[in-house]
Amino acid sequence: MDFKKLKDMAGDPRFISGIYNYCDRWCERCEFTARCLNHAMTSEDDERDPASRDIQNKAFWDRLHDIFRQTIEMIREDAAERGIDLEMSPEEIKEFEKDERRKRREAKNHPASRAAWKYVKMVDAWFAENKEVFEEEERKLNRAFLMELPGQDPEEEAALVQDALEVIGWYQHQIWVKLQRALHQQDRQDILDDDGKPFPRDSDGSAKVSLLGIHRSIEAWGALRRYLTTPSDSILGILVHLGRLRKRIEAAFPNARAFVRPGFDGPIPAPTEG
Ligand code: SF4
Repeated sequence: MDFKKLKDMAGDPRFISGIYNYCDRWCERCEFTARCLNHAMTSEDDERDPASRDIQNKAFWDRLHDIFRQTIEMIREDAAERGIDLEMSPEEIKEFEKDERRKRREAKNHPASRAAWKYVKMVDAWFAENKEVFEEEERKLNRAFLMELPGQDPEEEAALVQDALEVIGWYQHQIWVKLQRALHQQDRQDILDDDGKPFPRDSDGSAKVSLLGIHRSIEAWGALRRYLTTPSDSILGILVHLGRLRKRIEAAFPNARAFVRPGFDGPIPAPTEG
């Protein structure tokens, strides 16, 4: 996609500004695909070259490089229009990189971050230890299907279990990733609007996405606990851990829940408003 086209698309009032910054990136399940610039851009590239979706393929990295290059071009142009000098001296770059490394280290070592990573490992361990549970579930559903037992709907149960597994898989790493971003941005100075009021903090938005991932994961684990024939304690331990993780994130980001994500929370901007 060329620079001019990207700029035109960015100014298209059909798109909700910044909606993709605080979503869960699950486009297949998103109700805002038609209002999302990111989705429009990636869909166009995918149609042109399906290999650009494959992380193992050079086309994927070429596309990513292209997006970064064009984004930087747009930022530079915008900054020049506002009279902002984006150039940094070598010393400033060095200082900036040092600061970024420190922030990454601190984010990684934060107690909530360690708890989120522990959750990733707990999920891997649970699936490794409970392979036979799914074989048993399949046998159980097949039996119920053949016997046509009243009050049982094995197809619906299979779909619910499948959905819970997909939800758990989708958020397993994302909870940690979004939390890293939130922690990394946490000590950024407030950006003020023309009236001197601070804009909502990006860190709160990322923390909210992490909290939503926890919420949906708790629901999904609850569904597995209901349907699977498994020692219920094994899932209970995960649920307790997620509950504690949620409290830790809420303590670190007390304003996260109130953060209004464009499009998803509060009024949905009309297409003509831009
Ligand atoms: S807002 Fe929806 S369509 Fe856009 S990137 Fe996020 S999940 Fe995908």
